Amino acid sequence: MTALAEPHTRHPNTRPQTAGGWARFDAGVRLSAGAALWLGLLLVSYWWVTGGGVQALTGWESALMSTGRLTGLVASVLLLAQVLLMARIPLLERAFGQDRLARQHRLVGFTSFNLMLAHIVLITWGYAAGDLAATPGTFWQLTVDYPGMLLAVAGTVCLVMTVVTSVKAARRRIRYESWHLLHLYAYLGVGLALPHQLWTGQEFLASTATTVFWWTLWAASAGAVLVWRLGQPIARNLRHRLRVGAVVAEAEGVYSVYLTGHDLGRFPALPGQFLGWRFLDRPGWTRGNPYSLSATPTSRGLRITVKALGDNSARIASLRPGTRVLFEGPHGRLTERARTRPKVALIGAGVGITPLRALAEGLDYAPGDAVVIHRYADRPLFDAEFEALAHRRGLRVVHSPGHRRAPDSWLGAGAGQFSDATALRAWIPDIADRDVYVCGPEAWAESVRRSAVTAGVPNERLHIENFAW
Ligand SMILES: Cc1cc2nc3c(=O)[nH]c(=O)nc-3n(C[C@H](O)[C@H](O)[C@H](O)COP(=O)(O)OP(=O)(O)OC[C@H]3O[C@@H](n4cnc5c(N)ncnc54)[C@H](O)[C@@H]3O)c2cc1C
Repeated sequence: MTALAEPHTRHPNTRPQTAGGWARFDAGVRLSAGAALWLGLLLVSYWWVTGGGVQALTGWESALMSTGRLTGLVASVLLLAQVLLMARIPLLERAFGQDRLARQHRLVGFTSFNLMLAHIVLITWGYAAGDLAATPGTFWQLTVDYPGMLLAVAGTVCLVMTVVTSVKAARRRIRYESWHLLHLYAYLGVGLALPHQLWTGQEFLASTATTVFWWTLWAASAGAVLVWRLGQPIARNLRHRLRVGAVVAEAEGVYSVYLTGHDLGRFPALPGQFLGWRFLDRPGWTRGNPYSLSATPTSRGLRITVKALGDNSARIASLRPGTRVLFEGPHGRLTERARTRPKVALIGAGVGITPLRALAEGLDYAPGDAVVIHRYADRPLFDAEFEALAHRRGLRVVHSPGHRRAPDSWLGAGAGQFSDATALRAWIPDIADRDVYVCGPEAWAESVRRSAVTAGVPNERLHIENFAW
């Protein structure tokens, strides 16, 4: 059992503001990000209009070309947003959280892809003088004759591969690491698709200002990827030099890994967050896996707790002390930062209890103001630690053992006939006045969300993380 440590000095942008201060700030960031995207879309539409886009809709051939140009411009803005969404920019990461960014990434990704396909078909059809039968020949002509088109076609192939392998049906059939590798081709696809815009795009050829603006945007995005997806992780790993300190069995197939390192007093993670981990113990270490911190980070060390589910998570049990560890992150919004109320409820199932165990230790709360509802099938993880927190901090712990009583219920068999919402209100009568942190399997977490909303918890005070994307 881990001795309950004094939390380390807080990282500047995690110091609790007045209740809700950071939550309001992050809401403002989300709003501004959305506004910036719409502004970008309006700007390219303005370019299209001032470039004669509307007038060109009068003839069949010119209408094809004109709508082809508009779809191309909008697709590019969305492609740009794609790169920025996954560039790990701290301001966006903290405001959205990675799972919400991943959801936005999916939506923007499919939309920009469909618009890109429309762009290719419409522009080619237009160049074929509106004659559909001549379109394949024209496509070949454009590819070999126009500057940057060969690159654009190669880029399109990369993007088609990225999108096709990201369709849910395909994702289910592909191993995570293979999908992840294929997904990296998206960067190549974006890079190859860009030049033809600036070499053949009417809007760019017509205005130097527009070209400079567009190049600057793309350079900034590439810069963001280099800084936050490469530079920052390298700098942090060089600074903290993490190693495995100990591996301890917590339950059958569940192991805690205690990590040591340098300058951990300034390790940038908050209780509730997760990181991407790579253990340099054997070939295949290049593949990273996300695991949440299962205790508050201290200047002496970090802890994660992992359930063996597949190849990589099963390796954890055999990790040796001294093994070097690389990390990426921290990520996630299941933290103090999302909080708006003095009272909290932490609801977790199975290994999903790990970030909530860290929150139960790391959050500020008065005795009685924090409640954990712990769902588990057989044995509860961290039972002794929760008891120690109950004793030391006045945390209230509610156990809900047993297998789920029904597919649409998140409660165990022991909860009797009460509805989920009634049981929740019985356990925590003032649940509607609390921030509710939830972590567990996706469908289970969704059942919790539904019953919490029924019990009066507004969505903005529901902070949910699930272990599957
Ligand atoms: C935000 C987050 C926090 C998590 N925290 C914990 C934790 O604290 N403790 C714990 O035991 N588990 C945690 N998990 C789950 C854990 O990451 C997976 O169980 C692990 O990655 C499985 O990898 P594998 O090689 O063992 O199994 P595989 O057979 O390769 O994969 C099993 C499942 O895990 C998914 N998966 C595999 N690799 C990744 C990856 N790199 N990113 C996302 N999903 C992946 C696959 O899609 C598949 O559904 C977390 C997951 C997420 C998304």
